[in-house]
Amino acid sequence: MDLTIPKADLALKARARSFAETVLFPRELELELNGYLPEAAKAGLKQAVIDHGFNAINHAKEHGGQGLSIFQQTLVNEELGKATGALWAAVWHPAIPLRLGTKEQIRGYLVPSCNGQRRGAYAITESGAGSDPRLVKTRADRRNGRYYLSGEKWFVTSGDAADYLIVHAHVDGDPDKPTLFLVDKALPGVGVKRVPKFMHTYLFEHPEFTFDNVELDDSKLLGKTGQGFELTKDWFVEARLQIAANCLGASIRAAEIANAHAAQRVQFGRPIRDFQAIEFMLADMAVEIMATKSMVYRVAWEIDRGMDRKLVHARASAVKLYASEMAGRVIDKALQIFGGRGYMRENPVERLYRDIRVDRIWEGTSEIQRAIIGGQIKKRGLGPYVDWS
Ligand SMILES: Cc1cc2nc3c(=O)[nH]c(=O)nc-3n(C[C@H](O)[C@H](O)[C@H](O)COP(=O)(O)OP(=O)(O)OC[C@H]3O[C@@H](n4cnc5c(N)ncnc54)[C@H](O)[C@@H]3O)c2cc1C
Repeated sequence: MDLTIPKADLALKARARSFAETVLFPRELELELNGYLPEAAKAGLKQAVIDHGFNAINHAKEHGGQGLSIFQQTLVNEELGKATGALWAAVWHPAIPLRLGTKEQIRGYLVPSCNGQRRGAYAITESGAGSDPRLVKTRADRRNGRYYLSGEKWFVTSGDAADYLIVHAHVDGDPDKPTLFLVDKALPGVGVKRVPKFMHTYLFEHPEFTFDNVELDDSKLLGKTGQGFELTKDWFVEARLQIAANCLGASIRAAEIANAHAAQRVQFGRPIRDFQAIEFMLADMAVEIMATKSMVYRVAWEIDRGMDRKLVHARASAVKLYASEMAGRVIDKALQIFGGRGYMRENPVERLYRDIRVDRIWEGTSEIQRAIIGGQIKKRGLGPYVDWS
């Protein structure tokens, strides 16, 4: 059994680290203190993503992506996750279900999304439908060979940067027909209701969209009628792994900064790391990161080896749950090691502390992940989690 990471993958990780440190980190404070980056700075980031070859790491080369394996994507996402203000969102990952689109959709949406000419955002959540998307009220009524989309979507991440949305709606209002639609934002009837502010500073916004009888032809149906959940499930796997890798990177950065501070900060005549209270915190942080890294890398590697799809879903939930909760514990300790300085917004640890809170909420809350894992255990026993196969 050889757990060595191939040299080429380590080189890729080093490249991502350098990108994060030289392109993303220098923008952090400006973004944090102003709450936004000017359009010119965002355009510069976009160009840098292309220049460094990190656009669409999750798609095939034939579609304009980088063709990275899931393991390689994990290595890159770990490094990007170290950036605060969700600057990692500058590195776009076009939605996975697009690759199952028609040839025309691949040409019109996926390829230009991979090369940065277009950007999409995923819109499932609504005021009345969060953890339970069957409660979605957005409907696509079929009339005269067309669909007419009406409803509202909340929390549409990067919806401001997007020029099209992937909207989850019920055909004819039927919850048994959950379906995805490609909706160009410029279409008549698409509106922005509100752009709320959130706990984290985020490179883009999470607007609320309204759809008022938006006319769509058959070419805007992604997949088949009723396939909405199935297509979104694959997106969830990738998004959950990405969150886990980002959380890992965020925790490592916080731990590294806290460790350096503990070595040089002197109180009561000695570096604070010499107090066992601090040393034990650093020890717990290191071990938590080690455990999470082992888990995240393992599942990413298993997926590349063609793990059964059901196991993939089961383990992606476990990885997302564990990594996001681990990041909360580790970054909280890092902040504590800094004392008052940990509470200052100019300290990356303070920003990471706020940034990673949402990772226990989006793409399925911690409770929903536990419900998924509990359901798996009920159905299959503990095997998916305690066996190594
Ligand atoms: C910053 C941000 C960005 C987001 N981006 C997007 C996006 O781009 N696209 C998108 O579609 N959505 C997005 N979301 C929405 C996100 O996925 C939902 O917030 C999340 O799924 C939870 O839904 P909810 O907020 O309605 O909470 P609710 O579902 O109302 O849950 C409230 C509480 O009840 C718990 N709960 C609910 N059901 C159960 C259960 N069965 N068992 C135990 N506990 C339960 C939850 O865990 C939670 O603690 C985003 C959210 C945020 C905060």
